[in-house]
Amino acid sequence: MSDSYDVVVIGGGPGGYAAAIKAAHLGQKVACIDKYINKNGQPALGGTCANVGCIPSKALLDSTWKFHEAQGELSIHGIDVGNVSMDVAQMIKRKDDIVAKQTGGVAMLLKANGITWLQGTGKLIAGKKVEFAPHEGDAQVLEAQSVILATGSSPIELPMAKLQDDIIVDNTGALEFTEVPKRLGVIGAGIIGLELGSVWSRLGSEVVVLEAMDTFLPMVDKQVGKEALKNLKKQGLDIRLSARLTGTAVKDGVVSVEYTDANGDQMMEVDKLIVAVGRRPITEDLFSVDSGVNLDERGFIFVNQSCATDVPGVYAIGDIVRGPALAHKATEEGVMVAELIAGHHAEINYDCIPSVVYTHPEVSWVGLTEEQVKAQGDEYKTGMFAFMANGRAVAANETTGFVKVVSDVATDRVLGVHIVGPQASEIIMQAVIALEFGASTEDLQLMVFAHPGLSEVLHEAMLDVDGKAIHSVKRKRRK
Ligand code: FAD
Ligand code: NAD
Repeated sequence: MSDSYDVVVIGGGPGGYAAAIKAAHLGQKVACIDKYINKNGQPALGGTCANVGCIPSKALLDSTWKFHEAQGELSIHGIDVGNVSMDVAQMIKRKDDIVAKQTGGVAMLLKANGITWLQGTGKLIAGKKVEFAPHEGDAQVLEAQSVILATGSSPIELPMAKLQDDIIVDNTGALEFTEVPKRLGVIGAGIIGLELGSVWSRLGSEVVVLEAMDTFLPMVDKQVGKEALKNLKKQGLDIRLSARLTGTAVKDGVVSVEYTDANGDQMMEVDKLIVAVGRRPITEDLFSVDSGVNLDERGFIFVNQSCATDVPGVYAIGDIVRGPALAHKATEEGVMVAELIAGHHAEINYDCIPSVVYTHPEVSWVGLTEEQVKAQGDEYKTGMFAFMANGRAVAANETTGFVKVVSDVATDRVLGVHIVGPQASEIIMQAVIALEFGASTEDLQLMVFAHPGLSEVLHEAMLDVDGKAIHSVKRKRRK
């Protein structure tokens, strides 16, 4: 094993492994160091996303939605599936098989691209060198022309809700319950709390979600957030806003959860508690004080728009730097820095990064919300169209929600698109393309959308900006 590389990447998540692959595509000699050990005690690539994040959570969301449909929703189609039951062990095994496939796929890609996978811990030291401590064997120092830091994030822990066996858990433990908890508490109505709360609620858990803030999904368009909250509550998620956790105690397998809300001190008992109150960047022991790398005021690695740190030739990407903690953002940053290292021009349009909450209905958005545009003092218009009035949505019995468009009055440019409804995670990509190309609402109004399709709701929302939606009885112009 050589100890000299063109590029050394520390972290093999969606940021790090994508950076490694792109750098290899561009002719560099690359090593990727990753320290993750999975629940079987094996090293595994793919980071949080593939092992305990995006992929396993979606596997469980898909399994449980099918169960939910089989339990009742299919009967409207005339399908009688009789008594339905869920084999939780099989559901978890399917999830584990999917994770194994994904992480194995990443390992295969690294191998196919001639990238050296170093299993252990990496640390940047002075002189742009990397200290590598393998899981087994002696540490060594690697020389590198360029270093990419991509160590991701870990769940924020609350001192008053310390993780305990499989009773008080974080997002990792919440993917591993061996049976459906009768009563499930969730701390934090963020994306993880809502997605994993939905998983267990669909299987029959009585789920209470405590959220410290008084606003539901504050980063989301207000109308979209209101519609999502209404539907999640209808599904049985008991979401309590302005409810701040103050303490927990575990006795005889039951968690007593103390919290305060507008009415004062409260207490509830649950069988399992998921703590999902945000994530923090993994920067401890990642760089020595004399490495030259600095943190920003929020504890992320300080980088510029191009993900360059204060040390020439050292970059940082993904969850350890500013911006949304999203896998696709990490990946695009990885690709960008690999291009920059190879001497090419590359940049990311941070205004066009989509977000999705994979609940039912799904919530997705890109660009500015109406509230943000209003706060900027710009003149804007909005258009809205409901899935209820769309033939494909009616045929699929998926009529909840709407698409909302925010556009600039002076230029007609689309500023933001916000969706709550079926396939919101897919439809939003059409909006991303529109924003990326600086499209006007008129551009999208004039395009032909296939019928019948859920995307027609996006088309009609664009038309509605000028009061021109075809399938709307309310044709008044909106602001
Ligand atoms: P990570 O994926 O965290 O990877 C970092 C890797 O570096 C890890 O393997 C870690 O072990 C390793 N490492 C850390 N320190 C060192 C070191 N010193 N030396 C060597 N290796 C080290 N995002 C989405 O976009 N869509 C989703 O649907 C989604 N769902 C999620 C669901 C859950 C439950 C969670 C927890 C997260 C989800 N995310 C989702 C967020 C997404 O997983 C992260 O944004 C993404 O994984 C960040 O990628 P990364 O490469 O920056 O870091
Ligand atoms: P989050 O920041 O989305 O939400 C955490 C919530 O917990 C906040 O609403 C916060 O107000 C609340 N909270 C904090 N302290 C509290 C307390 N003491 N009592 C009650 N509530 C409290 O964080 P998360 O859900 O842990 O997710 C972390 C990140 O992972 C997300 O920001 C997201 O970027 C990423 N993620 C993305 C997806 C996706 O893209 N679909 C899915 C899961 C996670």
